[in-house]
Amino acid sequence: MFEGRWEQRWHPLREEWVIIAAHRQDRPWTGETLGDEPAGVPDFVADCYLCPGNLRSSGQRNPRYESTFVFDNDHPCVGPDAPTNLSIPAEPYRVRPATGVSRVVCFSPRHDLTLAEMESMAAQEVMGTWQKEFRDLARRPDVAHVLMFENKGKAVGVSNPHPHGQIYATDFVFKTIANEVAASARYRANSGRILFVGILEAEAADGRRILYENDTAVAFVPYFARYAYEVIVAPKRTHPSIASLSDAEVVDFTAALQHVLVKFDNLWRMSFPYVMLLHQAPTDENDYGAFHFHAEFHPPLRKPNLLKYLAGPEVGGGNFLSDTVPEEKAAELRAVPDVHYRHVPER
Ligand SMILES: [Zn+2]
Ligand SMILES: [Zn+2]
Repeated sequence: MFEGRWEQRWHPLREEWVIIAAHRQDRPWTGETLGDEPAGVPDFVADCYLCPGNLRSSGQRNPRYESTFVFDNDHPCVGPDAPTNLSIPAEPYRVRPATGVSRVVCFSPRHDLTLAEMESMAAQEVMGTWQKEFRDLARRPDVAHVLMFENKGKAVGVSNPHPHGQIYATDFVFKTIANEVAASARYRANSGRILFVGILEAEAADGRRILYENDTAVAFVPYFARYAYEVIVAPKRTHPSIASLSDAEVVDFTAALQHVLVKFDNLWRMSFPYVMLLHQAPTDENDYGAFHFHAEFHPPLRKPNLLKYLAGPEVGGGNFLSDTVPEEKAAELRAVPDVHYRHVPER
């Protein structure tokens, strides 16, 4: 029944794997509408498959969890049960099983509580969960890379508004990470320096695009932003993944992350949609000492109801055309208040 519907196909021209996950078509959809106000979102929803104590489509029941909750995705795009009896295609095509681990990370039991609005301790717990998951998955011999991300908002196709992230632990390294690994290694070979540290120094020297900084972490709109409100959050010290951040660095990194999230929500006084990725080094035996862990935000909106559509240059050519200037967008974000608009006391 899975024939050709769940596997990894090699793209010989882009030299990258395409995950075919057509078996997920029937997964549950309880998406919100674009511009939904969190004010209208209740803290518990009886038929939400992520809320505590509720039944999931797999027939499993969630525990009455009280902080974060991690489970194996019921509709995995890579999984331990991916079919292995694949039809072998003609040269130059290649196919292989879509094996791996897909997990879901519920940030908290609260259906309405986004990372932006969490208490800092609770947000730090989410980081701690990511650290633990990374260590756990990186240990597996069949895992080459751990991709952690959050899709937030209907504008990026989120199937359930309950704040959660996802983890794809795959036997291949995602293309963007592979590019960053190669660029970092080349830069170190040529200059003896860490590329990302060079980026942090260039941003610090200019200063106009920095949104936030504390002892060990920094947030900025990068010089090379492809999206209007693209933001990078990073520790100042080089770590290959989130796993090796010290407790103090987790506190600082979380503060930088939440600072950015509050700015996003305050921009148009709405729950701001984005794709957030943790960019981490691959987990095989090779040396990734030149790789510097960071989080990237790719928000799809240019204005409250205006999506950045990916078209000819981006989809067909693979290079971005940006309609906005990073320095101006950074100034815009810096100008909005630091306190979440929903938490400002009524006067
Ligand atoms: Zn829920
Ligand atoms: Zn990156």
